[in-house]
Amino acid sequence: MVLQGKWLWAGCLTLVSLAVTEFQGVPAPHPSIVPRIPILEYHLVRTRADGQFVISRDDFRRDLRLLYDRGYRPITVAQLLDKDFRDVPVGMSPVVFTFDDASPEQFSYVEKDGALEIDSTSVIGMWLEFQKTHPDWKSRATFCLLSGAQSGHSFFGDGANWNGQLPAWRFKKLRWLVDNGFELCNHTVWHAQLNKFPDAVVQEQIARGQLAIDSAVPGYRVRTFALPQGLWPTDPGLAWRGSWTEPKAGKQTSYDHETVLEVSGGPVPSPFDSTFERRRLTRFMVFGGNLKSLLDRLDDSGTRFKRSHE
Ligand SMILES: [Zn+2]
Repeated sequence: MVLQGKWLWAGCLTLVSLAVTEFQGVPAPHPSIVPRIPILEYHLVRTRADGQFVISRDDFRRDLRLLYDRGYRPITVAQLLDKDFRDVPVGMSPVVFTFDDASPEQFSYVEKDGALEIDSTSVIGMWLEFQKTHPDWKSRATFCLLSGAQSGHSFFGDGANWNGQLPAWRFKKLRWLVDNGFELCNHTVWHAQLNKFPDAVVQEQIARGQLAIDSAVPGYRVRTFALPQGLWPTDPGLAWRGSWTEPKAGKQTSYDHETVLEVSGGPVPSPFDSTFERRRLTRFMVFGGNLKSLLDRLDDSGTRFKRSHE
C-alpha cells in the first residue's frame, strides 16, 4: 500500500536570511514560498471506484472538469523537465497526468464496420470527449507502460479477455499516443519489484521495457522511468542508467533516463527553483475525491505555480 498525503507543507517554505535579520534585530524573516506543480498518478479507471488504485469514470470526468475550471492545463513530464510551458496560458497552472501500468481501461479500441474507433469509455476516449467542449485542453499526459505483464497490462491489452483488446492493436496505440502529443514512459516489462532482484535482472527488466517501446515506435527516446511500487533497486543508479545484452543475438540495449518517478511525495517544486530535483520526481496518487483537497491546499498555502513567463 502507498501512503498518500503525508508530504509536509512546511517543506514548501524556505527561510531566508534568518541569521542576519535576527542579529540585526529587524522583523522576523519572510519565508519565500516555493511554487509547486502537481504530478497526478492514476492507475485503473473503471465503472466503480475501489480503494487507492481504481477510480470511477465519473470521478475521472469530474477531475478533468475540476482542473479545467480551476485554471490548470496539462503538460507531460518531459515538458516539465524542459520548462516548456507553452501549452499553459500565462496566469494559469500546469498539471501533469501520469497513467501507470498500461491497462486496457486506459486505451481501448472498438471495432465498427471493420474500422477501429477509440472506446469512449476508456481514459483516452474520455479525454477526447472532454476536448470537444474544451478545445484548449491539449493531449498532454505521460503513460508509464508495461510491455508484458499479466491481466492485460501489456501495452493496453494483449488478448480478447482484456476488454476485447487484440494483441495486434498494441503498437498502433503507442504510435497514436506519440503522434497526438502524449509521452511514453517505461515502467519495466512486468512490474518487477526492483528491490528484490540482482542488478542484472533490474537492467533486463528496464532495457526490455525500452526495447518493446522501440519496437512500437522506432527510435522513440524514453526520458522518463516510473519505479514499480516506488521500490528502488539495490543500486539506485540502475533506475536511471544501465544496459542489458540479449543472450542469443548478443545485442546490447542501454537506457539513460532523465528522471525517475516515485509513487508518492506530493507536488514538486517549480523547475525554476533550486529545490527542484529533476532526476527524481514525486507524485500524488488520485483517489477518493482527494484531488479537490490538493488543489485547495495549493491555493490556501499560496504555493500554487502559475505561469508568468511569456
Ligand atoms: Zn505500476
